[in-house]
Amino acid sequence: MENQLDMNITYLKGVGPKRAELYQKLGITSIGGLLHTYPRDYIDYTQTTPISQVVIGENAMVKGYVKRKLSPQIIRRGLTIYKLIVADDTADLVITIFNSNYAFDNLILGEEYILYGKVMGNAYRKEMSSPQFIHSNESRKILPIYPLTEGLSQAIRQKHIKTALSTYSKYVQETLPDTIRKEYSLSPLRESVVNIHFPKDADTLDRAKRRLVFDELLVLSLGLAMLRNRNRKLTGAKMHKKDLSEFYNSLPFKLTRAQIRSIDEGINDMCSNNPMNRLLQGDVGSGKTVVAAALCYLCFKNGYQSALMAPTEILATQHYNTLKMLLRPLGIEICLLTGSLTSKKKAEIKNEISSGKYSLIIGTHALIQQNTEFAKLGLVITDEQHRFGVKHRSMLLEKGENPHALVMSATPIPRTLALIIYGDLDISILDEMPKGRRKIETYVIMGDKRQRAYGFIKDKIMQGRQGYIVCPMIDEGENELASATKYANELSKGFFRNINVGLLHGKMPSAQKDDVMERFQRGEIDLLVSTTVIEVGIDVPNAVIIMIENAERFGLSQLHQLRGRVGRGEHQSFCILLTDNVSETNRKRLAAIKNTTDGFKIAEQDLKLRGPGDFFGRKQHGLPQLKIADMSQDMAVLKEAQELAHRILQEDSTLSANVNQPLLHHVRTLFISAEEYGFN
Ligand code: ADP
Ligand code: MG
Repeated sequence: MENQLDMNITYLKGVGPKRAELYQKLGITSIGGLLHTYPRDYIDYTQTTPISQVVIGENAMVKGYVKRKLSPQIIRRGLTIYKLIVADDTADLVITIFNSNYAFDNLILGEEYILYGKVMGNAYRKEMSSPQFIHSNESRKILPIYPLTEGLSQAIRQKHIKTALSTYSKYVQETLPDTIRKEYSLSPLRESVVNIHFPKDADTLDRAKRRLVFDELLVLSLGLAMLRNRNRKLTGAKMHKKDLSEFYNSLPFKLTRAQIRSIDEGINDMCSNNPMNRLLQGDVGSGKTVVAAALCYLCFKNGYQSALMAPTEILATQHYNTLKMLLRPLGIEICLLTGSLTSKKKAEIKNEISSGKYSLIIGTHALIQQNTEFAKLGLVITDEQHRFGVKHRSMLLEKGENPHALVMSATPIPRTLALIIYGDLDISILDEMPKGRRKIETYVIMGDKRQRAYGFIKDKIMQGRQGYIVCPMIDEGENELASATKYANELSKGFFRNINVGLLHGKMPSAQKDDVMERFQRGEIDLLVSTTVIEVGIDVPNAVIIMIENAERFGLSQLHQLRGRVGRGEHQSFCILLTDNVSETNRKRLAAIKNTTDGFKIAEQDLKLRGPGDFFGRKQHGLPQLKIADMSQDMAVLKEAQELAHRILQEDSTLSANVNQPLLHHVRTLFISAEEYGFN
């Protein structure tokens, strides 16, 4: 029955191949797709303002009668202007319509309309151009606004939706039994789909929204929970608790409470019958590496190997050096597997890995995945730096006998959101920084102080320190390479001519990027000019200053991440945010960065300000795209939906019961676009 809704959109009256192509641009191919693409907004024609009170430059809704229609003016071929006067008790308003005799003819002399549009003109002669309007006796006063594409107008889309609803809404199948619907105060699904498009009033709209948001979050929760359950196999690497005091005693510092808690959570997982699937989340510098090291040590004590994968060779090397220092004194053999080894050496190391010589194998993701045989793999750690999707995580886990998995991420995400993004993982959070960290001093300045900022950077470099400049963001269509190169050249030939300036940009092959980063790490480059590609997690303690151009264009979390490139050594560090945007919003945003160092707080604020869509591009988390739920606002509904998902799966963990077929269908549809989940 759902099949009717899967029919190609060309089956809809009024939609031929041409329009189908336009719909395709909007991501709509089927009739169901059309019905389930909800309005992005509504015009509420009940909220009118007297014409005398409308404000120039703003959108307004007025109710008035057509007092006079002027004759059309043909300005040139292809441009005709239609004007008419609309009046209410308080004033006149000139309506201008470009090129559309259709709209002009539909406004009949003497009749009353409600019109919505931007007010232009001056105090003596207010105008509204190309308004949207309805007749004042129209019964529906809330009209949907859809995303459009050229050639597909609002009116046409509304007409298609009306047709589709009248013919096909009967095929929308209820997904929840009445008792559950009552319990959660949810309107019937079919009714909600109709009302989300053409609500009678604000209340109807609210109820329709609640139902659809609930369903979407329910389906998402079900899908993620099913994925998580799929990983609930028996582990072949069940560990036993061991005395780890030798490790703790060898540390040069005291662990934070958050570190102790996270290690305990990991140990408990690893000593259970199921493989650990845990996310370790913590701001830059919160000390994730030690937590990972403790779990590797437990693994070693149990006679198993651990593997740690990093996204780049540099990061792998960095981990290798740190972990070698922490673990080798305790008798753990560690190796590093990276692309720059000769193939002979690689083969040799791989041999030794399979013979069990090494207890900790560190390398790049790509290399470890490539036909590495482990003697006895018990733990896989991924240093994610928000780059890998779910699928990547799971590939290595198929090696060994369901080893334990720990994912480390340096992107602070509000906990509620993390529950979704990493819905297939349990979560440990390092929400506490080691004591005695120096605060990075942050300044927000305007472009006219750029020279002074350069001077400040130069002083630091003269004192032997290093710095970063994140160069201006380019507009779409501009050539990133050309503009970054030009910026770096200007600096290295101008203000910084006696200084070694390096350039790092997104279009470089990764080997070249690594090379630049390594030279920066070795101190051969003093000032690194870069687009936003500076590696997350890269540790150059001598870098003490970062200047970010066009700071207003970055998300708060991204600015926080960039700032985290400095402040890693003994020296006082600085972050300079350059912006010429004087708006109140921007001032507040940047002040938040200046005044807060807690990545989780910043993330929460960022999420509120931008919504989850922009918070991290969809590409980065690989989650299915939600149509109506807003993860920054619908948290309460999410909780309810998660609870219900849990109840449903307790009864029927694979949704194979007959009553659950419509839900299963929706889970598959939602996850189809997020292919890395491999749902089918
Ligand atoms: P991240 O979470 O960014 O990976 P690291 O694990 O690299 O952080 O730790 C950052 C620095 O803090 C390292 O130099 C590490 O030795 C140090 N460190 C970690 N835990 C503590 C602690 N409890 N007290 C003091 N320093 C610590
Ligand atoms: Mg790290």
